Amino acid sequence: MALNDVVISRHIIEEYKKKFMDHLSVDVALVGAGPANMVAGYYLAKAGVKAAIFEAKLAPGGGMWGGGMMFNEIVIQDDAKEVLDELEIRCKDKGDGYYTADSIETMATIISKCLRAGTPVFNLIKAVDVLFREENGKPRVAGLVLSWSPVEKLELHVDPLGIEAKVVVDGTGHPADICHIVTRKMNVRLNTPTGGVVGEMPLWADKGEKFTVENTARVFPGLYVSGMAATNAFGGPRMGPIFGGMLLSGRKVAKLIAQELKRP
Ligand SMILES: Cc1cc2nc3c(=O)[nH]c(=O)nc-3n(C[C@H](O)[C@H](O)[C@H](O)COP(=O)(O)OP(=O)(O)OC[C@H]3O[C@@H](n4cnc5c(N)ncnc54)[C@H](O)[C@@H]3O)c2cc1C
Repeated sequence: MALNDVVISRHIIEEYKKKFMDHLSVDVALVGAGPANMVAGYYLAKAGVKAAIFEAKLAPGGGMWGGGMMFNEIVIQDDAKEVLDELEIRCKDKGDGYYTADSIETMATIISKCLRAGTPVFNLIKAVDVLFREENGKPRVAGLVLSWSPVEKLELHVDPLGIEAKVVVDGTGHPADICHIVTRKMNVRLNTPTGGVVGEMPLWADKGEKFTVENTARVFPGLYVSGMAATNAFGGPRMGPIFGGMLLSGRKVAKLIAQELKRP
């Protein structure tokens, strides 16, 4: 068969267009394809919730690829072992409740499981703003405003596009981008101790890991936080190269949202 370059282009454009059009209106729009939101995407799909993940960078996976200080191994504590097992991620038992896993295999598996469960990732797309609506006279986050990342980077004067979502999840990691946008532009208070993004404290793995999971929560009508964005929003200790908290945060946010949307 002789390959036709135009046919190749047509197939790409047709399929991408279909995929994007099918996700202009979703139950859940997850911002950031780090480990927390990728795990959330897996569990949301399993619960029958229509979700999509928008990632500003080329590759999904956020900060998990590099392990600790670029040694590409991660540590997972025993609380999160059942997530590893559910996702069929291989790990080594190091005793005393510590497990290690290859960071690349772990992230590649999470990405594959999330996609195959039914939650797609749209990469190279940055959430630059939120849709804001009123419900019974009260403000809520009702979707995202999206732009191609290169457009943002080059500061081109091109208008972004909007998508609607019943729920948005800020999984943008350390920056907690969406929480900042909501407080700055909607002039509202989040459900955090200061009403805004409190900011991270120094490293303390034992406290930080539990803190992230406990504070994975709804911070405003229509807006949840997961992973490091939850830590930053509520003011917990920053994380190190132990990732159980990120996985458990993803599972928890999916469960909370499925409950809010009344899915099993
Ligand atoms: C590139 C990178 C490398 C890191 N390397 C390490 C490391 O080697 N060791 C370590 O311990 N920690 C590292 N970190 C810290 C990291 O925050 C945590 O390790 C952990 O991955 C946090 O998980 P998370 O799911 O909260 O989000 P993250 O893994 O931080 O992922 C957040 C994702 O959100 C995307 N994003 C942010 N803003 C937007 C937006 N507005 N629209 C769309 N997408 C957006 C980012 O591109 C990123 O992929 C790194 C973080 C990043 C982003």
